Amino acid sequence: MDCNPLLNRISNQFQKWSSKSLSYAGRIQVIKSVILGVQIYWTSSYILPMKVLQRIDEMNRDFLWGKSDHKQKVSLVAWEKICQGKKFGGLGIFSAKLWNFAAALKNIWYIHVNKELLWIKWIHGTYLKHNDIWTVNAKTTDSWLWKQMLKIRDKALDLTGGADNLKLIIGSCYKNSKVKPSALYTILSPTSLKVPWYNTVWGNLNYPKHSIISWLAVQNRLLTQDRLARMGVLNANSCYLCNGDAIESRDHLFFECEYSMNVWNKIMSWLNFRWRSCNWNCMLEWFTTSLRGKGFKQRIKRMAFNTSLYKIWNERNSRIFIQKSKGPDQLVKEIKVDMLILILNGNTAPEDREWVLSL
Ligand SMILES: [Zn+2]
Repeated sequence: MDCNPLLNRISNQFQKWSSKSLSYAGRIQVIKSVILGVQIYWTSSYILPMKVLQRIDEMNRDFLWGKSDHKQKVSLVAWEKICQGKKFGGLGIFSAKLWNFAAALKNIWYIHVNKELLWIKWIHGTYLKHNDIWTVNAKTTDSWLWKQMLKIRDKALDLTGGADNLKLIIGSCYKNSKVKPSALYTILSPTSLKVPWYNTVWGNLNYPKHSIISWLAVQNRLLTQDRLARMGVLNANSCYLCNGDAIESRDHLFFECEYSMNVWNKIMSWLNFRWRSCNWNCMLEWFTTSLRGKGFKQRIKRMAFNTSLYKIWNERNSRIFIQKSKGPDQLVKEIKVDMLILILNGNTAPEDREWVLSL
């Protein structure tokens, strides 16, 4: 009940935003600001009950996938995955549950090191007496907050293999003589491998809303008809872009389909890019190994890849949902315009600008 105002505030914020049709990238911005509020006002000084944290994570998840407005009912990617850093394949959103854990550990650490602070003196006098924070046991008469704190301590000791390890880990998270909860958060996150496509998807010339579609595509999580058929949602499957007998899958859409192949080849010729393929695996392999550098031509090729995926996915959706279609030449034009707007308005070096204008 104490936490209801917090939950209500979050749900009001989401309600306000869900009436506007936001892209995934827009939704992620809203989620980040909501989480930031939770981080600042609550979890850095208090410990929230597990059920409340779970509810916050659920509300964020439902908002991201549009479950709150009943437009879509499946999560395309697991929340745990989303809460990992972008280099590890996630979206770099903080999980409320894990953030609370990191913030509580920070407080436990301060009890260990800052014996002069008033609230810590009080803790030493009331709870610790002559024990230390790493070994003290909870008494049944202790407050809920204190018991939760010790539970978190035990979980952390378990996770890291003892107090010495835990102290080393927290000690490594200092910045400007303060423990940085975000550093602690990263260390405590479930470990996973770095993904090879990080630069391809999140290149700094890419529009965020394009990157999200690519992020879904590289994991094969876009709701293409082959996936919908496997989920039992559809029983027919035919590509809307080529109107042939082709079955729609990610690999067909990008770019085996006659329509998208046409678009992609035109964009590649525009950029004077001689290497080309319309086979998804082959392309992704090329982009993640040979086109991950910082040079302008590499960045602009990554941008072309992301913009084309986004525009083709959009074209496919407007054919299905609003029965409007554009020819490949029109789409090529739009891709070029999107790219040029960003390049010519951004911090592009003069020689790069000249090269783009000469195309
Ligand atoms: Zn097709």
